[in-house]
Amino acid sequence: MKVALKTKAYAAAKANQPLGPFELVRREPGPNDVLIDIKYCGVCHSDLHQVKDEWGNSIFPMVPGHEIAGVVVTTGDKVTKFKPGQHVGVGCLVDSCRDCASCNDGFEQYCEKGFVGTYNGFERDGKTPTYGGYSTQVVVDERFVLSIPENLPLDGAAPLLCAGITTYSPLRHWNCGPGKNVAIVGMGGLGHMGIKLAHAMGAKVTVLSQSLKKEADGRKLGASEYYATADEETFKKLANSFDLIINTISAQFDVNKYLGLLKRDGTMVLVGAPPEALPVQAFNLIFKRRAFAGSLIGGLPETQEMLDFCGKHNITSEIEVIPIDKINEAYDRMLKGDVRYRFVIDIGSLKQ
Ligand code: NAP
Ligand code: ZN
Ligand code: ZN
Repeated sequence: MKVALKTKAYAAAKANQPLGPFELVRREPGPNDVLIDIKYCGVCHSDLHQVKDEWGNSIFPMVPGHEIAGVVVTTGDKVTKFKPGQHVGVGCLVDSCRDCASCNDGFEQYCEKGFVGTYNGFERDGKTPTYGGYSTQVVVDERFVLSIPENLPLDGAAPLLCAGITTYSPLRHWNCGPGKNVAIVGMGGLGHMGIKLAHAMGAKVTVLSQSLKKEADGRKLGASEYYATADEETFKKLANSFDLIINTISAQFDVNKYLGLLKRDGTMVLVGAPPEALPVQAFNLIFKRRAFAGSLIGGLPETQEMLDFCGKHNITSEIEVIPIDKINEAYDRMLKGDVRYRFVIDIGSLKQ
C-alpha cells in the first residue's frame, strides 16, 4: 500500500528562532521499517539546548522531539515485532552502526561510530537529515522502535522515552535498590522520573531542589526527604550521606558541593548536560574514594526493559499537555523552571 509521506511538522529555521510550521517528507518504508502515526511528543530540555545551539552541533532547519509515542500504521514485509494498531515509542536514537562492541552489547547510545539521533543528525548515508517528533508521522527501523505497554496512556508514557530511560539506566547500573540512599538533584522532567523510578526500585529517595516549592509533589512521587540547595545548611547536614546521586541540573553548578554529599565509595552520576565545563576539586574524589560519572540515555534493550518495568508498576510522567502552537511559550517556561513536570505536545493539534 502506498502511503502519504508528506508530513506536517514544527521547526526552528535558525538558532534561537521561534519554532513555526514546516513540512517534510518521510522516506518510503523499507522491509524493516515501521510507519508510526505520532500521537504525543514530550518536550525535553535537550530540545531547548539544541534549538539554542548551546552544544555547538546544531543543524537547521531543526524539527526537535525524541519522546515519541504513537500507533503503528503499516510495517514492512520483514518486520516481526510490530503490527498495525500497536502502541509504540521512539526515543533519542533511530539508527547506529549495529556492528561495533557497544551495538552488539545493546548499548547503541554508545555506538563507536556514533549513533543516528532522532533529530539534529544525519542518517547513516551521512547526508540525509533526521527530523524528530514534533511532526505527524515517522518511519523507523524496527530495531529502534519500542513497544509501549497497553495499560499506560500514550501522553504520560511519551516522556519515558528520554526522561524515563535517562534516569532508569544509571539507577540500574549503579545498583539502586533496597538499603540504598539515593539523591535526585533537580526536580524537572528527568528528576521527577528519577524519584518515581528509584522509589519503585526500593531505595530511600531524597530530593535536592533549589527551593522547597515542590516539596509536597516530591513526597507524593516517592521521596521521603526533601531539601533546598539554596540553604547552605543542607550541604552540612547531608555531608557523606548518599550511595548514589543522580544529578539532572541543566545549567552550570558547583559539582564539588554535591560530591561532598557522597559516602565513601559513593558515585555522583551526571545526566544533566550544561554546555559549560564543571571544575572538580581533586580532594573531593580522592578522600573517600568517590566517583564522578556520566550516563547517556539507554540502549534499545534497556529502554524496553524500562517500559515494561513502568507498565508493571503503572509509572508514567506527570505532564502538562499543550497544543503545538504553545511550544515557544513552553520553552520559555521550562527555562524559568515553570514546568510540572513535563510538557507533552498533543500532535492532534498539528494534524488539524
Ligand atoms: P528540566 O525539566 O528543565 O529540569 C532541570 C532541573 O534542573 C530544573 O527543574 C531545576 O530543578 C534544575 N535547575 C535548572 N537550573 C538550575 C540551576 N541554575 N541551578 C540548580 N538547579 C537548576 O530539564 P530536563 O529535561 O529534566 O533535562 C535536564 C538536563 O538533562 C538537561 O541539561 C538535558 O539536556 C539533559 N539530558 C541529558 C540526557 C542524557 O542522556 N544524559 C538525556 C536527557 C536530557 P529544581 O527547580 O528542582 O532545582
Ligand atoms: Zn531528551
Ligand atoms: Zn555501533
